[in-house]
Amino acid sequence: MSLSECVKIESLSKHFAETVAVSDVSLSVGRGEIFCLLGGSGCGKTTLLRMLAGFERPTAGRILIDGMDMADVPPNRRPVNLMFQSYALFPHMSVFQNVAFGLEQERVSRTEIDRRVREMLDAVKLEGLAGRKPQQLSGGQRQRVALARALVKRPKLLLLDEPLGALDKKLREHTQFELVALQRQLGITFVVVTHDQQEAMSLATRIGVMNQGRIVQVGTPDEIYESPATRFVADFIGSVNIFEGHIGNSGEGGLIAHCGALQIPLPSRVAMPDGTRLALALRPEKIRLQRQSDTGAQVGQRGTVEEVGYLGESSHYRVRLDDGTPLRVDVVNHRRDASQRIQRAERVTLTWSADDLIVLTD
Ligand code: ATP
Repeated sequence: MSLSECVKIESLSKHFAETVAVSDVSLSVGRGEIFCLLGGSGCGKTTLLRMLAGFERPTAGRILIDGMDMADVPPNRRPVNLMFQSYALFPHMSVFQNVAFGLEQERVSRTEIDRRVREMLDAVKLEGLAGRKPQQLSGGQRQRVALARALVKRPKLLLLDEPLGALDKKLREHTQFELVALQRQLGITFVVVTHDQQEAMSLATRIGVMNQGRIVQVGTPDEIYESPATRFVADFIGSVNIFEGHIGNSGEGGLIAHCGALQIPLPSRVAMPDGTRLALALRPEKIRLQRQSDTGAQVGQRGTVEEVGYLGESSHYRVRLDDGTPLRVDVVNHRRDASQRIQRAERVTLTWSADDLIVLTD
């Protein structure tokens, strides 16, 4: 990824009467990045995308694309294209005509249109389908036509609104790899809006998590998942167990958090005064689940399995610790034999490494 900046957003806000849709957002997106804006319904991500495209005017703040202030630049003059979730293809036009449409509006010559459309259909692997109408295509093929149409004008920035939203699960997985490969090949910067964390994790070079109009954390997928900055981010991305408590007497072996009846050793890097209130977040796959009969009496936390959700490749366990705390544990089913797997009502021991605890004070 090049370090140069494609998009710079400075203190951007958008109010609709009483509603603050976007609140004081500052952000920069590097050239060649796939930047995902991720957040729940109503958090302001579409409004932010529409301001980048020029369909909404900011109430305050600035947008620079390639160093140019976009304040007075109308949508059709921005070096930007927007791919809608619905794809918005023209039903009466062929695949070729759909992709050629934008170039025709710009009065590009016939031979140039022909060359560029064929090149783009080639890139999205639709060469053989140029004469078909949209209703003669599968969902994944339609998505690729929409992508080709958005890319053929060679925007500096492509904005994508839930690009995989209309596809079924299998096709999504396949398509997200293709999308990343195509983006690498063309080197165009993508800003993607999605409420789907898996879509964001698999596509993004970096993710901006939004809540109530604000960006609450920006980071790589790994940083967002493994080192969430706040409880909101920890909770929003993936599943998480949360222990509430405070720092207790620092024993010889390092700091301990008192969370109800549980005493939880903290990672050695943590340095906080006694009594500090905190929350500990622990991802379900970081917990090791063993039959109590297989462990020593002094090891780990003890509990009983209340529920098992079998998903094939993995199982989700709900375990009630002996002090009453419920925990979720995810286990990969690396053995075929069901009798090897821990079942409901079994007594279990749970262990984890202190380094896998995320310590949150926000
Ligand atoms: P979703 O995933 O549900 O589309 P979103 O994160 O994209 O949500 P936005 O569409 O940006 O959210 O909306 C942010 C807030 O601004 C919401 O409270 C919404 O009701 C409000 N809003 C958006 N557009 C308008 C508008 N044109 N007029 C008034 N309020 C609006």
